[in-house]
Amino acid sequence: MAFQSVEHLLSCSNQHPLWKAVVLDDCQDRDVTEQESFSRMETLWQAMVESVDSYDPQRRSASGLSGGQGARMEGAEHTLCGDFMQQVIATALKVGEHNACMGRIVAAPTAGASGVMPAVLLPLWRREGLSAHTMVECLFVAAGFGQVIATRASISGAEGGCQAEIGSASGMAAAALVHARGGTGEQMAHACAMALQNVLGLVCDPVAGLVEVPCVKRNVMGAVNAMACADMALAGITAAIPCDQVIDAMATVGRSLPSALRETGKGGLAATPAGHAIAQQQTKLVP
Ligand code: SF4
Repeated sequence: MAFQSVEHLLSCSNQHPLWKAVVLDDCQDRDVTEQESFSRMETLWQAMVESVDSYDPQRRSASGLSGGQGARMEGAEHTLCGDFMQQVIATALKVGEHNACMGRIVAAPTAGASGVMPAVLLPLWRREGLSAHTMVECLFVAAGFGQVIATRASISGAEGGCQAEIGSASGMAAAALVHARGGTGEQMAHACAMALQNVLGLVCDPVAGLVEVPCVKRNVMGAVNAMACADMALAGITAAIPCDQVIDAMATVGRSLPSALRETGKGGLAATPAGHAIAQQQTKLVP
């Protein structure tokens, strides 16, 4: 059964590391062994790595709106953010574009938000030579927090706005990063809470109804937010509102968003003159 609260998740991790508590829950839920549970997540980690490594800078989405920007970012010189953050940004763009081009991605938690987790985990894995085992542990941590968000709020843009997709991915990624750095369960909860509260109210407004604009670049925001919140939590900075209460607030905000701002492509950026022009152009492309 999915974790109902972050508090429950933290209490289950009194005897084991938090990631292990999620493994054990999965074993019980799906009636599998720890080895089987771990292997399944390992497969997802490998798929995540492939979603970055198989990026083709020449490829364009059917709409022509996405492609090539991950490589452009990677090749930029003297970035304000520095080398490491440049890699994070480039990776988020690459996976977002790969998804728009119908490439294979890991929906963590959704296809639209699939760039956030690999964007923060792969550059760290490569820079610090972390083991694949550690990265799989990170995915279990993310899955634990993701379960709570899905249970108490939503991970669907149509239901809760983009806060539920990019926001959830950002919260999950922030918790996973804290694990990668050896932080405590409490620090993971603070990182997730801070990441979620930073994106509360974010609307879902895909231009022309395509998961491209603003989705691809919002993955960058989700990844950078996750990095900052993980660093804050690791530095001992705490969220004033407990993680479960932030998630509950996210659910309430999601329910109060008008339908125009929940993946209908009728509000926000989709309703701008440029958004309408792109939508119109797309209808001409459809045979
Ligand atoms: S804007 Fe909507 S479709 Fe795009 S990533 Fe956010 S939730 Fe998904």
